[in-house]
Amino acid sequence: MSKLQTLRNKIGEVEFRKKLAIQFDGKGVFYEGEPTGKEYESITKDRIKDYTKYFSQLKKANIPLGPYLELGGGVGQGAMLLKNKFRQQGFTCDISYDTLRLAKKYKDILRYSKMPIRICADIYNLPFRAGSIPFIFTFQTLHHLPDPKPVLEEVKRVLAPGGYFYFNEEPVAQTFNLNLWRRDRNLKWFEKLLKATIILHFISRIGKAETDNDILEETFSLKVWEKALSIFSKAYVTIKVFPFGPTIRLEKNNKAGWLQPPFWKRFLLNILGGGIEAICQKEDGNKQIEDTLLNLLACPNCIHKPKLSALDARLLCNVCKSSFKKRNGVFMLFSNKQEKLLYSQ
Ligand SMILES: [Zn+2]
Repeated sequence: MSKLQTLRNKIGEVEFRKKLAIQFDGKGVFYEGEPTGKEYESITKDRIKDYTKYFSQLKKANIPLGPYLELGGGVGQGAMLLKNKFRQQGFTCDISYDTLRLAKKYKDILRYSKMPIRICADIYNLPFRAGSIPFIFTFQTLHHLPDPKPVLEEVKRVLAPGGYFYFNEEPVAQTFNLNLWRRDRNLKWFEKLLKATIILHFISRIGKAETDNDILEETFSLKVWEKALSIFSKAYVTIKVFPFGPTIRLEKNNKAGWLQPPFWKRFLLNILGGGIEAICQKEDGNKQIEDTLLNLLACPNCIHKPKLSALDARLLCNVCKSSFKKRNGVFMLFSNKQEKLLYSQ
């Protein structure tokens, strides 16, 4: 059985990111160790530079970049970049309404003119029709879940036949770490000292604010990644050993243990940890849905049934008659039960 994100983890995401959104908006400080509004602006601008590199490489490899779906999109910078610079259409999706709401401000900060469609939803119950999206991507999201595999299964359901799933900036476990405490993004004085002597990386792990707030901060072994990637017939993986390399490229084949670097690189990876990037392809078929963007959505209550009809500030399901609010430009597309548990106020 694959492990799923618990309700407590989900509430943690919603509540933590609600406060963090206020902090990123420059309207209060809840977490001293997390970025301020100004710092988050520069982090986001740096991310845009990195994402531009990634998307350009994918484009060069003839991978279709739209219609797209960004998962764990936060302020939606990846989706905005695709919309404004790569001229693609699509969605950004996150469990945090408050971060998605902030996307509007970040559109101005990044000097973009167009917004992607914003969807607040559960990653295990994506409100999209099966076989509907040719390009799904995520950055720094899968490690907030206990196991990437169930997410990849849901992603595969939503992917169009022959479609691609791309993820990057996810961690590979470092086995050599005493794990004495979790540290913040902004280091304390003694942590800076330990960092200067390179010791910090072997005795402490990141993610203090997250784990203090019931959010998971996982690092997966290559075994876990291989198991998750097993659901795709094709996968191309790049692993970078922290912090300066080497880089390892592997392609999925039918043999167990295909995601194993050569011995000495594996040895370094175990000691130092690393990052993983992958592009996965769903097998081809002939069921590609051609429709308007809003018609690619599906009702989270009766997910396999067909489409919703757009009606001003609401989405209505023709099948089960559920109705879904649009709050400040964000579609709230949870099942009735989940919406009550996560956004009852
Ligand atoms: Zn329905």
